[in-house]
Amino acid sequence: MSRSITTKCIHLEDEDDKIKHYGAISYPIYQTATYVHEGVGKSTGYDYSRLQNPTREHLEKIIASLENGIDALAFSTGMSAIATLMEIFKPGDHLIVDMDLYGGSIRLFDNISKKNGITFTSTACCCEDVRKYIMKNTRAIYIETPTNPMMNVTDIASLSKIAKEYNLLLIVDNTFLSPYFQNPLSLGADVVIHSGTKYLGGHNDTLAGFLVTSREDIAEQLRFNIKTTGAGLAPFDSWLLIRGIKTLAIRMEKAQSNAVQIAEWLEKRKAVTKVVYPGLKNHPGYEIMCRQSRGFGAMLTFEVESKEFALSVLEKVKLIQFAESLGGVETLITYPVTQTHADVPKDILEKNGITECVLRLSVGIEDIDDLLNELEDVFERTGEELHSGKKS
Ligand SMILES: *Cc1c(COP(=O)(O)O)cnc(C)c1O
Repeated sequence: MSRSITTKCIHLEDEDDKIKHYGAISYPIYQTATYVHEGVGKSTGYDYSRLQNPTREHLEKIIASLENGIDALAFSTGMSAIATLMEIFKPGDHLIVDMDLYGGSIRLFDNISKKNGITFTSTACCCEDVRKYIMKNTRAIYIETPTNPMMNVTDIASLSKIAKEYNLLLIVDNTFLSPYFQNPLSLGADVVIHSGTKYLGGHNDTLAGFLVTSREDIAEQLRFNIKTTGAGLAPFDSWLLIRGIKTLAIRMEKAQSNAVQIAEWLEKRKAVTKVVYPGLKNHPGYEIMCRQSRGFGAMLTFEVESKEFALSVLEKVKLIQFAESLGGVETLITYPVTQTHADVPKDILEKNGITECVLRLSVGIEDIDDLLNELEDVFERTGEELHSGKKS
């Protein structure tokens, strides 16, 4: 019988390895660059750690199992995973990409991939018919759902039907929900991306990235690329990820429960002009999320009445920390226009509604009362200052 994802985060189904490692409960860190050969043509299965390392391999097996893939590859960062994935394309290839993506991905496409002869059409994959943009040289559709930071939701199964009809790869960056809440490969995607730095690592202490695939031919190309370009995750960082993933389920549940309560609290504030959280019934993607995910995640974006209000919130928060990134146990608040999305062209920012009044929260697993008390206090003091004309 197949195990639940909560258990799979803690136990790999095939645990024969334990015998080899003196029964260690925690998987050992193989801090080695190279491996001894017993003789010519004989190998332990490991030759050099750029190609493979037992600790990294153990982590990759866990990720493949969580995402229902046939293979997973662990990279030094999310961006190195995406950059290595882009190497499967050739000059002249065309990709359709979602308009509202992680800023670093847009920067990679605009500056590195374009230079390598790959062209892009950027569109709102949640709502537009992507068929309009498919050309003879189109090779893939690349999305995030929900998107960063505006939480647009795309129906993965419907998009995968179009992708299959035109023989395109469907690539889904699943960082925001983690495999605990969503499995794009099971909905028809061909490649799943993760920034392991976020929920999988979960503690804001390690950078990592993953590619997972359900296709033998893609897995083979990716294995060739990782060995050739060399961005594989280091043994110690692999171990930190293995350790982080053990608590993925319990962290995701707690963070989501906090996020729901914060979203509901924000909706009632006069100074808040919009709350974008896919777990709210008024969110346009709510129904699709109910079908394709097991949860709504813990990322939420909101808009306040003015730029001054946004800046004052960022200045006053203490327990909630003003920092980039997401997915850790700590609640972080981000200012997309100057941080994550600083390099995104202005017209795209405007189209996506990413203004100077927009703030993003990565809700952590602190006590909810402490989080709400802090927000209450910050909003109250900001309101008093701005509306009495005082400056802090
Ligand atoms: C952070 C992030 C990335 C990049 O990952 P790094 O680990 O920072 O390189 C890619 N996609 C999404 C959605 C992210 O949030």
